Parts: sequence; structure tokens; C-alpha cells
Amino acid sequence: MKSFLAIFSIVFIVLSCNLKAKKINTSEITHTQIDTIKPIDNLNQTITKAFVLGQFEYKTDTTFIKINSEHSAKTLYLNKEVYSAFLKMFHAAKQDGIVLNILSGTRNYEEQKVIWERKWNAYNNLEPLGRAQKILEYSSMPTSSRHHWGTDLDLNSLSNSYFSNGKGKAIYDWLNANANDYGFYQVYTEKENGRTGYNLEKWHWSYLPLASAYIEFYNANIGYDDINGFTGSELAKNLNIIEHYVNGISNKAKEY
Ligand SMILES: [Zn+2]
Repeated sequence: MKSFLAIFSIVFIVLSCNLKAKKINTSEITHTQIDTIKPIDNLNQTITKAFVLGQFEYKTDTTFIKINSEHSAKTLYLNKEVYSAFLKMFHAAKQDGIVLNILSGTRNYEEQKVIWERKWNAYNNLEPLGRAQKILEYSSMPTSSRHHWGTDLDLNSLSNSYFSNGKGKAIYDWLNANANDYGFYQVYTEKENGRTGYNLEKWHWSYLPLASAYIEFYNANIGYDDINGFTGSELAKNLNIIEHYVNGISNKAKEY
């Protein structure tokens, strides 16, 4: 009996260690199963459906932090880990004479809804589908924006041409050479390699150490019935928002 107990305890310890070390494969989990999982062992946060959909208040969420006025003229928030990585990148860039300036950080569902519906009303000369497609050149439907996650930032200018010459080109060249070292990747690259979704955005950089976990959760748990509550939301399925837009990111980001 004693030896049986000893063997039982060893087996139990080995099993629980394995369980701890195993990275949960989120693709095995459907959104009907559970609402919260913790896909990365060292991720100090529980990912929820509400979170990836932007349906939360980041200003009072302890995983978020208000960014310093030195880094943005606006009142913006980022995930704490993302901001800390940004600060390292900011100082390295400064040493090389490059000043990075954050134009946009976290936006929740409600804020994205305001942007979406403002543009929806502005393009009232177009039919609903064309209207949505026009907005989707550069803006996301609420529930489908990477800006919900606090991992993505827009830097220096919201114009691709700004980054083509002079100061803008120097900034873009620096980011291309160095941003990956800090975890930041341009996700909306040229579409020539078959990337779908939003147009080229040279200003939009994503912190993939966290964002890759969030998109994995999103793909495993979010369906078209979760995309609702704003004008035109019924078009999401026709437009393949999840496949073509949420997942319309660079190959480098997909493979991260
Ligand atoms: Zn952006």
C-alpha cells in the first residue's frame, strides 16, 4: 500500500509538472467551451473574449498604463509591457537621432464605434457594402481592431508618403532596421505577397510577443455572432472580416 501511494504521488507530480509546462493550444478550444484561458505560462493576464473584442475599460485596467507626454501629445494608454518595450525602442532611436511619436494607442470598442460610424455617415453616397469597404481601407470594424489590445501603435504620421523621403524616410528606415529587436513589427505591409485586408500602413507597429497570443485566442474563440452592435455590422461575414482583415497581416507576423 505504501509503495502504491509513493508511485501514485510520483505520477501525480510528473503529470502536474507536464501540465504546467505545456503551452495550451488555443486552436483546440472553441468559443462555446470556455470564455477565459491563459495561453502563455508567463503571461501575467487572463485573456477573455471581451478583452480581444475591445469591450473593456482600459483606463481602469491594471495591465494598462497612461503614456508620458514626452511620447505623445495626446492622452493615450498602452499595455504596460508594450509601453516598456516602446521606451527601450524610443531611447535607442533617440541615440540615433530619431524621435518616435505615438499618434494612437489603445482604442476600445466604443471608441472604434465612434470612428466607424463617423466614416459610415461620411460615405453616405455609397451602397452599404462599398461604404464598408471604403472605411476598411484604413479603419477597422469595432470588435476587430488590433488597437483594442494595447499592443499596437501608430507612429509619427498617418500618411504613407511622409515615410518616403527626408525625416519620415529616416524614421521608417530606422524602424525597419531596429523595431523587430524590441518586439514591434509592421503588420499592414504591401499587398504584393497576397496579404488581404487593410491598405499599406507604414505607421502601424504591433508588439507581437503579446499580440500573437491575442490573435491566437481571437481565432479560437471569436465568431461572426460576436461582431455586432454598430451600423453595418451585419456585413462582417460577407466581407470576411475575420479571415481577410483580422488575419490580413504580414507573413512575418503570421509566422511569429
Ligand atoms: Zn493603427
